[in-house]
Amino acid sequence: MVEGKFNEIHAWAAKSTGIAVEPWSYKPRPLGRNDVEIEIEHCGVCGTDIHNMRGEWGGATYPIVVGHEIIGRIITKGEDVTSFNEGDLVGVGAQVFSCFEADCDACSRGQNPHCPHKVFTYNDRYADGEQAQGGYADAIRVDHRYAFKIPDSIEPEYAAPLLCAGATVFAPMLQKGINKGDRVGVVGIGGLGHLAIQFAHGLGAEVTVYSHSADKRQQSVDLGASVFVNTSDDDEVAANRYKLDYLFITANSKPEQYNEFISWMRYGGQIILLAVPQGQMKIAPAEIVFRNIGISGSLISGRDEVQKTLDFAAEHNIRPIIECLPMTKVNDALERVDTGKARYRIVLNAKE
Ligand SMILES: [Zn+2]
Ligand SMILES: [Zn+2]
Repeated sequence: MVEGKFNEIHAWAAKSTGIAVEPWSYKPRPLGRNDVEIEIEHCGVCGTDIHNMRGEWGGATYPIVVGHEIIGRIITKGEDVTSFNEGDLVGVGAQVFSCFEADCDACSRGQNPHCPHKVFTYNDRYADGEQAQGGYADAIRVDHRYAFKIPDSIEPEYAAPLLCAGATVFAPMLQKGINKGDRVGVVGIGGLGHLAIQFAHGLGAEVTVYSHSADKRQQSVDLGASVFVNTSDDDEVAANRYKLDYLFITANSKPEQYNEFISWMRYGGQIILLAVPQGQMKIAPAEIVFRNIGISGSLISGRDEVQKTLDFAAEHNIRPIIECLPMTKVNDALERVDTGKARYRIVLNAKE
């Protein structure tokens, strides 16, 4: 059996409910035959990290090490791993395990995030009872099928947010079959929205951005939008109704806003929810029936879609807008994300 190189993983952990992290170390799980050991170089900060540390999505087991936009190099591989070499630059996203069995309803359809045996990157447990811990750390061990090759043309720190934020917006675009000429709307220009604009534009769609901040107009155009709608301007909103084929909602919305969103769609339009606001949606059924409007949600992406996200970003020169901070400043980074100050994703450098 191959031994890993890290006997102890040094990490930044939340020890109780809240977003303060402190140094903590743990003994890694044994390196399985299909596993790789990755020395972490960068890790992005995702809003989901904060929700989990606060126990907002079903409680958390403390100490918890979050971080699921991980970039690093393979330093050890299990005896059955042939697709990677030591030294390869790889990424790890929001999931680290699924069963891959042919008779698994989810895995056989490429829907690994819904596999009953799935393990998320943190705040989750392996079948053997070991706690999965994330990327605010100097290393991680995962099944090699959840390590993704980073294309040479993408700088490591820019690749990090593609593992979660990028794949989260691109996966539903692939699933819906968004094509050249489709009219795609994006609500919100933040961590997800600024990537959704670029990916939709890369697919050849005509992109409309909706924001209540008029000062986001130029940036939206720079990212690939052809139309910008200032939602604080009623006339501008009214002039843009009934035209979208797809609408991606990447920002928290109020319950009464959904009928407004529906009025932006042409018949047969599809609304895709990526943000998870608390509370209920208030929708008039007639609005969705009379014009065949579909509403769906999308969690994280399947395994194949993560690699497609990275490859598509390389091919179409799509990059997140990031702020880089040393991992030793992780508490400042969390504070910036929590207060909505990050423009638009923060990436931690584990070597600083
Ligand atoms: Zn995430
Ligand atoms: Zn499965």
